[in-house]
Amino acid sequence: MTITSLAQRLARPELLSMTPYQSARRIGGSGDVWLNANESPFANIFSGHNDSAYNRYPEFQPKALIENYARYCGLKEQKLLASRGADEAIELLIRTFCVPGKDAITICTPTYGMYAISAATCDVAVNTVPLTPDWQLDAQLADKVDGSSLLFICNPNNPTGSTLSSSQLEPIIAALSDDCIVVVDEAYIEFSPQLSMANLLDKYDNLVILRTLSKAFGLAGLRCGFMLANEEIIELAKKVIAPYPISAPVGDIAAQALTLSGVKQMKSQVTQLNTLGAQLSNDVSQLAGVQNVYHSGANFVLVRFNDDSWFEQLGHAGIVVRNQSQVDTLKHCLRFSIGSEVEMNKLASVLTQISIANRDKLTKEITQ
Ligand code: PMP
Repeated sequence: MTITSLAQRLARPELLSMTPYQSARRIGGSGDVWLNANESPFANIFSGHNDSAYNRYPEFQPKALIENYARYCGLKEQKLLASRGADEAIELLIRTFCVPGKDAITICTPTYGMYAISAATCDVAVNTVPLTPDWQLDAQLADKVDGSSLLFICNPNNPTGSTLSSSQLEPIIAALSDDCIVVVDEAYIEFSPQLSMANLLDKYDNLVILRTLSKAFGLAGLRCGFMLANEEIIELAKKVIAPYPISAPVGDIAAQALTLSGVKQMKSQVTQLNTLGAQLSNDVSQLAGVQNVYHSGANFVLVRFNDDSWFEQLGHAGIVVRNQSQVDTLKHCLRFSIGSEVEMNKLASVLTQISIANRDKLTKEITQ
């Protein structure tokens, strides 16, 4: 018997037909302008970690990192858990609160793909309650969680960029306070800080917030995220997480990024990116062939075009973006991460050229 057939025979059956998450890096692409992973264009420099101490395991939760994040988000340290990116925190929540083969999570689609994939890898069912056509929550969402242990809501939402106010979210958290943990994924919250639900953590025991250093802090390569929740949830998640989740260099660099000057730098970069994002949305909305530029509270913009040709044409010009067209409700949609000013100028100019070329082609076809 070959190793492969042994692996197939012994593997969990639900994994055999599963497609893994198609991350921007796995999909790949070629070009010189990368706008497909919602990364920051700012490559901030960090230095000064202790290179000679790697023979020892790191702290379970690095003290300086947790202290600095607690100061940044205004919460007690006991309400925080640092993880290997927000992705690990998503999986931890599912492993902590969902019994395989029995429990379910609820998601509001279109949304970040890892909630469903993490659930699938844990043999946990996914209950889907679609967003409305203007990306708002279903008015009956609290009644539709259908016994799920976890409800994931992404705010600002990936890939739509759409946002929800506290007054829209709080009634759902309140309505589910005895039944379901509401996980608000705030991976992009620094781009719309007024929308954070962190100030409601003391009020609701069923609220969990996810954060990351991958976006506004420009540290996607570091792999560092956080779970913010009441002490009981954090203690349970600490039973499930790996023994040394934050490597020493990661803890060191992340703590530096969260000093007062690091946070100040992040805020100034967010201001620049938000300005570039608004400019891009405005430029793109003028173009023939663009059906909708969705309002975004994050460092990316979702645009619906008149057909599927734009992705390939951008690719020919060396611009790699995220194609969302395979999602039912996102036909002809592309998601553009906000990059540097130079990258945004190139994107706007290539989109303008494509728009003009498409229009000329159409005019020629009509007049022939
Ligand atoms: N949540 C959302 C909504 C995201 O878009 C991402 C990254 N694409 C994550 C979580 C994962 O973030 P991290 O890099 O911290 O694992």
